[in-house]
Amino acid sequence: MAEYIKREDALGCVLGVFDRQRIKELPAADVEEVKHGKWIQEQIKIENMSIVRYRNTCSECGGKADFLLRELHYSYCPHCGAKMDLED
Ligand SMILES: [Zn+2]
Repeated sequence: MAEYIKREDALGCVLGVFDRQRIKELPAADVEEVKHGKWIQEQIKIENMSIVRYRNTCSECGGKADFLLRELHYSYCPHCGAKMDLED
C-alpha cells in the first residue's frame, strides 16, 4: 500500500537547506518551459481508395500525425512534445 507524506512534513525534513517560507515561494519553474501548440487539421484523400484521413499538423514544429477519425489526436505532439491545449 502506498504511503504519502504531508507537505508540511516534507518541508520540515529539508530545514537547513531552505527555510520553510523559501520553499513555499519557489516558482514551479518547468511549467513555463512546456511548449504549447495546437493541431492544424486537414482532410486528405488516399489515392484510389474511398478513404479519407485527417492529417494533424503541429503548429509548433510542423510534425504530422494522421488519423482515420476527426476526433482522434494526440494530447502531446509526438515530434516536439508540445502540449496541444491552445484554443483555435
Ligand atoms: Zn510538434
